[in-house]
Amino acid sequence: MSSSFDLNRLVRENVLKMKPYSSARDEYKTDGRKMTFLDANENPFENGVNRYPDPQQGKVKQMLASQKSLSAAQILLGNGSDEVLDLIFRAFCRPRVDNVITLPPTYGMYKVLAGLNEVEDREVVLASGFQPNVAAIFEKIDEQTKIIFLCSPNNPTGNSFSEASVEEILRNFNGLVVIDEAYIDFSAKTSWLERLEEFPNLVITQTLSKAYGLAGIRLGICYASEEIISILNKIKPPYNVNELSQQRALERLSRPEEVNREVQTILQERELLRANLSKMSFVKEIFPSDANFLLVRVENAGRKYEQLLEAGVVVRNRSNQQLCENTLRFTVGTPDENKELLKKLTQLKA
Ligand SMILES: *Cc1c(COP(=O)(O)O)cnc(C)c1O
Repeated sequence: MSSSFDLNRLVRENVLKMKPYSSARDEYKTDGRKMTFLDANENPFENGVNRYPDPQQGKVKQMLASQKSLSAAQILLGNGSDEVLDLIFRAFCRPRVDNVITLPPTYGMYKVLAGLNEVEDREVVLASGFQPNVAAIFEKIDEQTKIIFLCSPNNPTGNSFSEASVEEILRNFNGLVVIDEAYIDFSAKTSWLERLEEFPNLVITQTLSKAYGLAGIRLGICYASEEIISILNKIKPPYNVNELSQQRALERLSRPEEVNREVQTILQERELLRANLSKMSFVKEIFPSDANFLLVRVENAGRKYEQLLEAGVVVRNRSNQQLCENTLRFTVGTPDENKELLKKLTQLKA
């Protein structure tokens, strides 16, 4: 491993060399005057969405930038974080040459994207307390290791990774460290965004799909250095976030107190769910959670899962993941939905 972080060495050569597609909306930069747009082969008759959306999503980025005290140039938006993660793979990992490190049990998309991009996924299973095994991670790293994916709070386990472990990885790995903070808004821990300036190799992904309640609009967010963001910008599809999604995102982002109220309710409900589940005889362990779900070890998870389905409640059976034998993952619902879950659970036959 070389001794310092060198972004130009990390980027794929074809990406470094390529010229991005320049869309009509990229080429003409508005100067505030009212213009007649005859440049993009759009239908000119107004219906609210007859024009192409802003390819750089300026308004959404401005709002995020001011809320997070960053510059818009440190932000990339995507069609869900899944697109953002895919762009990161494609910008940095050479198919059949490079590798990435993931820490199972974790979010399934890292492996899917590694497979899709023909990039080796080197798995380092989490250690006790579902914490990163830092020594084992460093043993797996070689010259071709481009990215380490840390999901914190982690899905499906719910816990956050210790600050010391994450910092050790950030300090000693010369590739990118992607911290997936999809659940950060449910956590009392501070986001790694606060330390973005400190680590040139840090990439943080967040999403409007969970706490912000906008899974349907598909809006994922990537925060990193301007240099990293400009590379991702180069390869992103020109109009990857549609006009309706940008509008809905802006509306929601402008009402943080609304989001906050919902998050507070979800957190209260999570603890109520935990208290009630802990009284049930078939519940063996409820893992700590900084997210909007609980991972619960039960007796005979497969059967419980089927019985709940039969009763009209869909949960996630995570039993086939490493370290997750006989676990179910319950998303925290509305107060009524959680009551229904608890009621159905108490009614289950052994
Ligand atoms: C739900 C989730 C996401 C969200 O993905 P989107 O494509 O933005 O909806 C990302 N990472 C993790 C770990 C998740 O659980």
